[in-house]
Amino acid sequence: MKIKDTGAEAVLAKLTEAGYEAYLVGGCVRDAVLHKPIKDIDIATSARPEQVIQIFPRTVPTGLQHGTVTVLMPEGTYEVTTFRKEEAYEGFRRPAAVAYISDLNEDLKRRDFTMNAMAMALNGEVLDPFGGQADLVAGILRCVGNAEERFGEDALRMLRCIRFASTYGLEIESSTWQALLSHAHLLRHIAMERVRSELQRMVEGPAPARAVRLLLASGLLAHLKTQLPLPFEAWLAWDDALDAVSALEHQHDRWAMLITLLEVPADTVRAALQALTFSRADGTAVAGVLALREAVAAQAEAPDPAPLERVWKLGAVRRGEAAARALLRLLRELPQETEKRGELARFLQTVAPALVRRGETWLKEVPCFSLKELAISGQDVAEALGRQPGPWMGVLLQELLERAALGEIPNEREALIHAAQAAK
Ligand code: ATP
Ligand code: MG
Repeated sequence: MKIKDTGAEAVLAKLTEAGYEAYLVGGCVRDAVLHKPIKDIDIATSARPEQVIQIFPRTVPTGLQHGTVTVLMPEGTYEVTTFRKEEAYEGFRRPAAVAYISDLNEDLKRRDFTMNAMAMALNGEVLDPFGGQADLVAGILRCVGNAEERFGEDALRMLRCIRFASTYGLEIESSTWQALLSHAHLLRHIAMERVRSELQRMVEGPAPARAVRLLLASGLLAHLKTQLPLPFEAWLAWDDALDAVSALEHQHDRWAMLITLLEVPADTVRAALQALTFSRADGTAVAGVLALREAVAAQAEAPDPAPLERVWKLGAVRRGEAAARALLRLLRELPQETEKRGELARFLQTVAPALVRRGETWLKEVPCFSLKELAISGQDVAEALGRQPGPWMGVLLQELLERAALGEIPNEREALIHAAQAAK
């Protein structure tokens, strides 16, 4: 077997010519064994970083403290890391300092799972001291060495374990799973960015429902509760809906669906996504969908509800067209029949079917969703009314926007100015 990448071959060849050992390692070897597309290529070598820098004309010292140098080749970039072992783990995270070594096997031993602890030589030979290939053939995810020690050294490995099991469709080997159960509490030592990144990859991956079930069964989520106070166990009651998540293409939609099932207020969600270090844009996109559903549901349950068409159109203007379209995509996938009780179940049974049927058409009828699409500006209004610009403009424009969106006035300059004068 060979990875066809002329740049990587050139890097291995040059290091070998200079008298060092060099191998492809980690994810690229695993993916080659599985005949999956290869993402980034990592190279391990006996050469020290300063020697790597001397051999190649173009390098970037990306992670010198970990022994990593990025080599820039015409074909692409390659991370070249000196064989190393990680000695003192501190605070249940990977160590800041490493020790360089000369033996490939020692380097492979510090890696997390057998399938990630394989190396490939320039001639295509696979070096596999821990039986990674056999485990992959059997569909098993197994820690290298003693699982309890490995999770104790670095708690992030537990999340990687669930990510790999779900994205690669693997069964977690029993002593690895037992160790995960007994070490789940260590997750609280891991930085939220790293937790978020792993969760994101699970949610984006091919089997988000399996990831959620494993996260719940492992107890890992329970140990995030101080930082992320969300009732994750509520997912247990929404089995069908969990399976439907993978039908959604966009990751924002997937998060919005998963979090909708937790039945917590949109404001709580916004705070939780922030705690989870979501970007502002990602957080707003997801929380916006929840806020829109909340607003529509509140109207539907009000003693004297406004017609759904009006509520929907106004909601789309207030929360944005993107949120409205996202909510429709979610509702098309969520089960309408459910044994569950509660506000969300009622919404799915009563409001959702109507929105799925008519929501799209109603959106098409809305001529403008934002002030940018409104046919007049604040300046126009101020001039027409002969008033000094001020905060009053925003309030008036929003009112005009909503009336235009509902079709009460045409989205045309003359008509809007007329309405502005009448509103004065
Ligand atoms: P992917 O890039 O698809 O997430 P990967 O296996 O390449 O998968 P990386 O995070 O890129 O994952 O890491 C490269 C390699 O480094 C892994 O294959 C593994 O050998 C090792 N590794 C990464 N993170 C850890 C960890 N927390 N503990 C032990 N080894 C690790
Ligand atoms: Mg990788």
